[in-house]
Amino acid sequence: MSILAQQNLRELQALLESGACSSRDIVTSVAEQIQTVDGDIHAYLEADTEAALVEADAADARRAQGEKGPLLGIPVAIKDLLNVKGQSCRCASKLLEGFVSPYDATSVAKLRQAGAIPFGRVNMDEFAMGASTEHSAYGVTRNPWNLEHVSGGSSGGSAAAVAAHTAIVSLGSDTGGSVRQPASFCGCVGLKPSYGRVSRYGLTAFASSLDQVGVLSKTVADAADTLSVVAGHDPRDTTSDPIGVPDYAAALGEDLKGMKIGIAEEFFGEGVDPEVAASVRKAIDHCVSLGAEPVAVQFPHLKYAVSIYYILAPAEASVNLSRFDGIRYGNRVEADDPVSMMCKTRDAHLGDEVKRRILLGTYVLSSGYYDAYYVKALKARALIKQDFDKVYEQCDVLMSPVAPTTAYKIGAGAQDPLAMYLGDICTIPSNLSGGCGLSVPCGFSQAGLPIGLQILGPAFAEERILRAGHAFEQSTDWHLKQPGSFS
Ligand code: GLN
Repeated sequence: MSILAQQNLRELQALLESGACSSRDIVTSVAEQIQTVDGDIHAYLEADTEAALVEADAADARRAQGEKGPLLGIPVAIKDLLNVKGQSCRCASKLLEGFVSPYDATSVAKLRQAGAIPFGRVNMDEFAMGASTEHSAYGVTRNPWNLEHVSGGSSGGSAAAVAAHTAIVSLGSDTGGSVRQPASFCGCVGLKPSYGRVSRYGLTAFASSLDQVGVLSKTVADAADTLSVVAGHDPRDTTSDPIGVPDYAAALGEDLKGMKIGIAEEFFGEGVDPEVAASVRKAIDHCVSLGAEPVAVQFPHLKYAVSIYYILAPAEASVNLSRFDGIRYGNRVEADDPVSMMCKTRDAHLGDEVKRRILLGTYVLSSGYYDAYYVKALKARALIKQDFDKVYEQCDVLMSPVAPTTAYKIGAGAQDPLAMYLGDICTIPSNLSGGCGLSVPCGFSQAGLPIGLQILGPAFAEERILRAGHAFEQSTDWHLKQPGSFS
């Protein structure tokens, strides 16, 4: 048998239940794996093994009392923008270096209630702005499949940790694709729940109308189990939805017979790497061979999605990040007066990409440009939602590539922000509409880099996308492939 850290969540649960291993054994194995491989990958910003072992013992004691549950005794790696009481939360920014969270995010509190162990802070693009984890102030996270390539972003640490078996599951966040795209780049599963499905309380806000806590895991079943724990209404987040949490695990049993799969050619347009397009089309054909029915649909406004997002997300970010001013939050750089102090603080401690977004966002919200850009983008956002509404009248789920390319070389995209923004075209629409989305491994490029299949569904249709993803995964072996050794 391979080491515990290489098992998936369900396998570990079975071992725990049978008494074959303890939670302490699992945490120890994950910590050892971090020791062995994370020097190469750099998914972790920190991981306090001693503290995690104390919690592991508590979980083992709960199990000894007869308690059960999908995450009981399982360590979960946490993206560095979710608050975990007593742990640092710096959003991969120098501005927040040294900040220790005084409380648990609701998603983290739910993990703890279920007996899971928040173990380790994983790397990300600063304040979740980026698609490669190159914008972290603490160094890039490398792709376990090829260390010269990016892990994707902004939840690159979460995805690389799962792929490198330094995490069993991980929580990330997805504002424009940050869970699905790194999952696709690293060959693991990434689930972006519907807007309002998981509480955002304690998730450091980037763009509040788009942000959603998501899950990165080794299998679709593991993502379903984790979602069942973190989902649900939270009175502390007014945008969280009171709709009940269904039994996601139950949805996994069903096959694909009769499921209508929408295919919109717009998602396979210019800029999509032919290898990526071919793998995704093959994956869709495979679903059809399992009994699904393909339906050609249209998505006429896709071409506007990137522009809409890069007006709305920076606008919201410029407001959300105003709290990092050296007074309310952030490491202060002293100056003679408060305004110079704020300027110096932000200038010294924020990275270029974050500054770019703040400038852009402030500009589109300024009087004179507000109507021309911000209001117009809001109206155009409604057109994306309309496209989805029409699509879902004709089919149950929409399938597409997750990203137009596989993971690029470190340094290749960072110099050209616009090119990197265009890489978000397939994932952004789901955030703009509030729907849910899943990334499932579906192939490899000639160069040996993973390719992901995106499965999109309407708001609160997670059962549908999980069912499709699980059926696909169970009849293929892409998810079983492992990256080689790293050094
Ligand atoms: N890549 C997108 C951006 O840079 C998405 C980021 C995210 O989802 N957090 O904004």
